Amino acid sequence: MASLSASISCRPSSLPPPPRALLGGAEKPREGRRRTAAAAAAAAAARCPPSLLSPLPRSLARRVGVVPSQRRRDLSKTIHASVTVDIATEEVQLPKGETWSVHKFGGTCVGNSQRIKNVANIIMKDDSERKLAVVSAMSKVTDMMYDLIDKAQSRDDTYVFALDNVLEKHRSTALDLLEGNDLANFLSQLDDDINNLKAMLRAIYIAGHATESFTDFVVGHGELWSAQLLSSVIKKNGIDCQWMDTREVLIVCPTNSNQVDPDFPESEQRLEKWYSQNPSKTIIATGFIASTPYNIPTTLKRDGSDFSAAIMGALLRARQVTIWTDVDGVYSADPRKVGEAVILKTLSYQEAWEMSYFGANVLHPRTIIPVMRYDIPIVIRNIFNLSAPGTKICHPSVCEDEDSHMLESYVKGFATIDNLALVNVEGTGMAGVPGTASAIFGAVKDVGANVIMISQASSEHSVCFAVPEKEVEAVAEALQSRFRQALDAGRLSKVQVIPNCSILAAVGQKMASTPGVSATLFNALAKANINVRAIAQGCSEYNITVVVMREDCIRALRAVHSRFYLSRTTIAMGIIGPGLIGSTLLEQLRDQAAVLKEDFNIDLRVMGIAGSRSMLLSEASIDNSGCRGIDLSQWQELLKEKGEVANLEKFVQHVHGNGFIPNTVIVDCTADSVVASHYYNWLRRGIHVITPNKKANSGPLDQYLKLRALQRQSYTHYFYEATVGAGLPIVSTLRGLLETGDKILRIEGIFSGTLSYIFNNFIGERSFSEVVAEAKQAGYTEPDPRDDLSGTDVQRKVIILARESGLKLELSDIPVDNLVPEPLRTSASAEEFMEKLPQFDQEWTNKQQEAEAAGKVLRYVGVVDLLNHRGAVELRTYKKDDAFAQLSGTDNIIAFTTTRYSKQPLIVRGPGAGAQVTAGGIFSDILRLASYLGAPS
Ligand code: ADP
Ligand code: ASP
Ligand code: MG
Repeated sequence: MASLSASISCRPSSLPPPPRALLGGAEKPREGRRRTAAAAAAAAAARCPPSLLSPLPRSLARRVGVVPSQRRRDLSKTIHASVTVDIATEEVQLPKGETWSVHKFGGTCVGNSQRIKNVANIIMKDDSERKLAVVSAMSKVTDMMYDLIDKAQSRDDTYVFALDNVLEKHRSTALDLLEGNDLANFLSQLDDDINNLKAMLRAIYIAGHATESFTDFVVGHGELWSAQLLSSVIKKNGIDCQWMDTREVLIVCPTNSNQVDPDFPESEQRLEKWYSQNPSKTIIATGFIASTPYNIPTTLKRDGSDFSAAIMGALLRARQVTIWTDVDGVYSADPRKVGEAVILKTLSYQEAWEMSYFGANVLHPRTIIPVMRYDIPIVIRNIFNLSAPGTKICHPSVCEDEDSHMLESYVKGFATIDNLALVNVEGTGMAGVPGTASAIFGAVKDVGANVIMISQASSEHSVCFAVPEKEVEAVAEALQSRFRQALDAGRLSKVQVIPNCSILAAVGQKMASTPGVSATLFNALAKANINVRAIAQGCSEYNITVVVMREDCIRALRAVHSRFYLSRTTIAMGIIGPGLIGSTLLEQLRDQAAVLKEDFNIDLRVMGIAGSRSMLLSEASIDNSGCRGIDLSQWQELLKEKGEVANLEKFVQHVHGNGFIPNTVIVDCTADSVVASHYYNWLRRGIHVITPNKKANSGPLDQYLKLRALQRQSYTHYFYEATVGAGLPIVSTLRGLLETGDKILRIEGIFSGTLSYIFNNFIGERSFSEVVAEAKQAGYTEPDPRDDLSGTDVQRKVIILARESGLKLELSDIPVDNLVPEPLRTSASAEEFMEKLPQFDQEWTNKQQEAEAAGKVLRYVGVVDLLNHRGAVELRTYKKDDAFAQLSGTDNIIAFTTTRYSKQPLIVRGPGAGAQVTAGGIFSDILRLASYLGAPS
């Protein structure tokens, strides 16, 4: 039987097949084909060094066809003998066309026995007249097979145990699924295969090397087993079903770029022949594997089962190819990297090709080519969610009809490729010299490197291209040597390698020719502070490709995706200073997070909270869309339990280093000048800064100017509304006036909530010290009220507004009326100060009565005088009917006198102190940042 079986496949392909009867029923041909495949592998083995062959047991050598040449000749005689009988039989013709529906089931679909049953049900429920299902190996099996090769090659004898695991996985699956003869046949076949593999791996182990054909032969077993298991399960349900070892049918020619090209005419002939021997309406075919024109087993390379299915679909002219996988279809971006990615209803063949070429591994890039030729649609569907309709890949006219009015019809999706390096060949000697590009790419071709994208500036001064990182060294050497003379002569200035790059591709029908699309794309990248290293936009209009540094890649992907799909604007936040204001902000964020997410598409994630002594960093767990951030309903407990020693650099690195979230903001809720001294550096790193801390803007002028200049030159934002007037819109009002061309003449205001309270209540009823004590009691003052009474805080606010208005002043240029009586300025403690303050009540009473007599009130104000280029903080008196005299509580009031508001100043008034309103001011800066970053308004 064995020799007869072997004879079948060794038959010259032009000869007709043997009669089915001769092969002994339905089961027999299968065994015949298996032997044939092994024979093909052995042909490869026959070309290996003798040392490699020697460990093959004689039985295997015979079985896979490694036989002395005399014996082979005998075998060919047998072939002819069998063929004589053949000719007399009638052939069953392969019907092609719409009656066929082709399915492909990926590794996860057949990942265990239950899933294999499920796949069998799907196939059986398909009411197409004829069905062919291509299957991958059970999930992880192909990896396990490659691992066997790696282990054996590196002489790691644990390959034996690893092979046992492979055996066990399939044996237990078979035990679950099959019984009786089917089970026995499968297990005996499996045992045979494993024994053969053991021998081959032993050979590889001894040689310390596996040839490509040995490797392909070994790794393709996963598909052989899964196809047999699935077909047996279908047969068990009483359905006539044949399994196909596609190495007998698919003939492919290897190319020199680790790919294969199908030989369609030859494969078609072989398929017809195969079908005539196995005419069945349900066929289960192995994915991934094929043979070379010399019948040597090969593969369609990793993830190649999609390609197998497409080739089968084309050979059968099928109605449709359905690719079953573990996601609902093709997403607008890799769902593992962009949580908000959306399912695309349709894609044109070109778009699908571009997406898969640029890394969307839901589809093997070459899948499209065979089906496109016959306009066969591909539908990608989720085996775990049958209610999802999936993505249809079809002719562009169909897609256009469905989504023509949407932005998404221009930009369909985004994909990325990692582990690339850019090569930049530069020099004035390149311009106008014919043949330079050809010489460059000739040298690249000679080292067999794959060029993924090319970009050449129109000045012809430089050519820049991306190659896989592992190939760049060879490419650079080849270029250095090819252009040695030009480099020495200075016609070329350099061959530069930029490692650690990634490609981000935006793919979409006619995208590149639609005005505004690329501008939006680059704008989104700029706002996420991502530097683009190279750009390529093909004339195909289907693709814009940008090269970015690898560490920026996911952020870039998320930034552009959210821009086009209006998915959430996600911001990673680090909060420094969880004191009264910081913790109030955290409460507000906690309460508002869900509404912001659902109603405003803003996703704020607090990744770290740092106090002066300890800090809490978010868990490193990464979900689909990156790290979720700290649970704000229990941050205090978490800080106590899981807090670590505060370390600002580590904190910032954690918050910003999260490659998933495109935007980072540090919110500084301290009053600390050391923290403020980091702003410049943070902004330079693309980290936005929001703060109520006045130290940076009221510090040394040169540092302030540097900070503002940096902010203006970049897309990084620095907001500090809450530094003046807490939540009141002071800074933004001033900016609005300036930006719209108004001229500021004077800003005058009561900027201190504490001093506002004190003078609103010091109206002759109680002494000054009593009012101060009352304010302290109510928590309106700093722990030491001298910090308020000294006027420094107001002085800082004045300098902030003065600088915002364009005055170049130092803090010391603002004279201050210090309300702390001279002798008490050196008092040791706040308590001592409060004790001694009544000694000065009389002076205060006098001042108050003097004002009262003139029909006025006392007010402590800050002034920015733009006409005289000066500022001041002073105790002034105001008529009782003046707006400044009408305040209550801790109200602030700020009056802007401008060219437009010259008769009546523009007045902003309201509570200007307190944790709730200050935190609210910071919060609105955070939302302003989100809208600057693209959140919908
Ligand atoms: P199979 O084994 O079924 O062939 P693959 O792992 O090869 O499955 O492909 C499916 C996977 O592709 C998905 O689980 C998903 O994580 C990944 N993927 C990457 N990019 C995309 C995308 N744009 N759309 C859908 N899936 C994608
Ligand atoms: N099993 C093969 C692989 O894992 C082919 C495929 O699943 O598409 O690469
Ligand atoms: Mg796949």
